[in-house]
Amino acid sequence: MITIKDLHKSYHMGTNSLHVLKGINFNVNEGELVSIMGSSGSGKSTLLNILGMLDEADTGSYVLDGVQIKNLNEKIAARYRNEFLGFIFQSFNLINYKSALDNVALPLYYQGISRKERLSKAEHYLEKVGLAEWSHHLPSELSGGQKQRVAIARALASDPKVLLADEPTGALDTKTSYEVMELIQGINDEGKTILVVTHEHDIAQMTKRIVNLKDGVIIDDSKVEQVRATQYV
Ligand code: ADP
Ligand code: MG
Repeated sequence: MITIKDLHKSYHMGTNSLHVLKGINFNVNEGELVSIMGSSGSGKSTLLNILGMLDEADTGSYVLDGVQIKNLNEKIAARYRNEFLGFIFQSFNLINYKSALDNVALPLYYQGISRKERLSKAEHYLEKVGLAEWSHHLPSELSGGQKQRVAIARALASDPKVLLADEPTGALDTKTSYEVMELIQGINDEGKTILVVTHEHDIAQMTKRIVNLKDGVIIDDSKVEQVRATQYV
């Protein structure tokens, strides 16, 4: 699903440059649930943003679902991003003045799907994350855990090939974090490929494989005995 070879990325600020990713190699197969761990500043978000086509590497290759992701024009890149990828962020990134339902339905607008179908899909995915009764509420009327569920429904609505989550539990208390991980595990059980960036060990143990990043290099990449979140919620 994902093949990355010798990926490098530097940031340039005036005369200074910061070499953030220093030769990343890794593959993700369909159906995997992988966590990317590392301390703050180790390059986790930079890597996830490149995987999510929100940013581009300087050198190296990235193949996503058989497509070489390099020098794509913005229109094609946007189409692949829409079709292939779903994003979940620490801070939810919901639109404050739109209902939960409209937040979930919005990305489908850019795929040219009719309003009727957009709303029916959005309803379906809100139900899937347990928020059917909250569809007409604004984000400000929802708890942190509920907001993240809306964001997960939004990410799922376009049925992407890969879900990318950057510290999805970073703004949530422990119990709510585990509830969100229970949902993520359930989505992976159904076959969805998911990458989760985290710096929390207990969250990483709930995935099936941990990739450890340190100073822009992968220092460990191991399968783990998955801890099921259900036993904690
Ligand atoms: P992590 O997500 O692991 O905390 P990041 O990938 O966000 O790490 O950042 C890695 C390093 O790159 C940090 O030192 C950060 O300050 C720097 N960095 C990230 N984004 C930018 C940017 N747009 N411009 C300059 N430096 C950046
Ligand atoms: Mg980060």
